[in-house]
Amino acid sequence: MDERFDAIVVGSGPAGTTAALCMAREGLKVIVLERGEYPGSKNLFGGVMYTAILGKLVPKFWNEAPVERYVAKRRFNLLSETSSVSFEFSTKDFSDPPHNNSFIALRARFDRWYAQKAAEAGALLVPETDVIDVIRKDGKVVGVRTQRSEGDIYADVVIAADGANSLVAKKAGLRSDFSSDRFTTGIKEIIELPKEVISQRFGLEGNEGAAVTFGGYPSGILCGGFIYTNKDSLSVGVTTYLHSLVENKMQVSDLLETFKKHPMVKPLIEGGRAREYGAHLIPEAAYKGKMCDDGILVIGDAASLLNPSPIFLEGTNLAMASGMYAAQTIKAAKEKGDFSRRSLDLYPQLLEKSFVMQDVTKYGKIPEFVTKNPQFLTDYPDLLCQSAKELFTLDERPKAEKKALVRKIMTQNSSSLKVARDLYKAYRNLL
Ligand SMILES: Cc1cc2nc3c(=O)[nH]c(=O)nc-3n(C[C@H](O)[C@H](O)[C@H](O)COP(=O)(O)OP(=O)(O)OC[C@H]3O[C@@H](n4cnc5c(N)ncnc54)[C@H](O)[C@@H]3O)c2cc1C
Repeated sequence: MDERFDAIVVGSGPAGTTAALCMAREGLKVIVLERGEYPGSKNLFGGVMYTAILGKLVPKFWNEAPVERYVAKRRFNLLSETSSVSFEFSTKDFSDPPHNNSFIALRARFDRWYAQKAAEAGALLVPETDVIDVIRKDGKVVGVRTQRSEGDIYADVVIAADGANSLVAKKAGLRSDFSSDRFTTGIKEIIELPKEVISQRFGLEGNEGAAVTFGGYPSGILCGGFIYTNKDSLSVGVTTYLHSLVENKMQVSDLLETFKKHPMVKPLIEGGRAREYGAHLIPEAAYKGKMCDDGILVIGDAASLLNPSPIFLEGTNLAMASGMYAAQTIKAAKEKGDFSRRSLDLYPQLLEKSFVMQDVTKYGKIPEFVTKNPQFLTDYPDLLCQSAKELFTLDERPKAEKKALVRKIMTQNSSSLKVARDLYKAYRNLL
């Protein structure tokens, strides 16, 4: 391609599209290269989109975005073999405009709609284009090579927004090769059910949705499960550490099947028909590479900008925020006519000042914490369920005896002091 651009964005997920949208609105000449047949066609996530950044960039997005349901209910379940201890927050506040918290979406629909917003703002969107390398001149990144014939494309700056295992960042020497201890893997199935059945099973009205997450089962494996309510289907999946699968000689697909059979999960999905199935990497551990170099920036999952806390699990809004900061940086660099690393260094500075880096720094240690403290996903859910069962089994014993018994159950594997310390550790590291 002879044409030259201000910026090349590789990948049209939430990060890349946000960068393209913001730059196009500033009048920059932007090209977005996406390997999928259309934006979102290859993308998979659990289901919750957070609206803090989206609402700023597309005010009243709810009038046009492909929203499945607004999250009005969040439930966290700790599972034992047969029981569950849950915490639930429900509100009517999020399901009415201005929908200022979160909604459930399917990426094949959402990413396509969102990329169209960038195209309407003036970005050139080119799908079915696989970027296979970066092009350098005098040590600086000056473009990318695609699989197309005559597929070299040149620009002042390249944005690597190509997701968890970013080839572009690797080819540019900004991050190291794949390492299994830095990623978890997620697998998800879409299960079709009539809209009314979903609303009834999850206690929802109108456009309300539920985000339900699980920990503790299958026991012995470091994994979490989720069910998110779409309009007329459920997104059902599990995420797990790659090393935990190896240690337990399990495939991630076996894990999902086992999860779906749990007595607290089975009734929620019963009678449904599986429609789609997919797996994807999640870059849970904090990034160890560089955020920018001469002529290149790394954003979203490509820079592991994800909050893996079991309470929050946010990636899409951090991806959008990083795309927004990358666009601001490139606009400033263009005004100066300087795309060197020194000039692009504004991008990591903007990230550092924002919630993005503050959360990533705090929660990026979770994979290491959980791996070193497996009791939070193995022993404690079971002990909590045993304790709750004892507490709610009403018999002729006085309640003071019950309290003592609960204490005995909770400390059966360790001392009271160790349990108290563990609870404090969980509070500090996971919340
Ligand atoms: C199982 C699972 C559950 C999750 N649940 C949630 C959730 O509920 N809420 C949440 O906020 N986050 C969730 N996440 C995280 C979230 O999906 C990511 O953080 C987010 O998608 C990152 O956006 P991105 O644009 O950086 O990358 P991606 O969404 O991965 O987009 C990368 C894009 O680049 C394209 N691409 C890749 N390589 C090339 C190439 N060489 N050439 C051209 N194009 C390329 C891809 O096709 C894709 O379109 C979940 C992730 C998983 C896997």
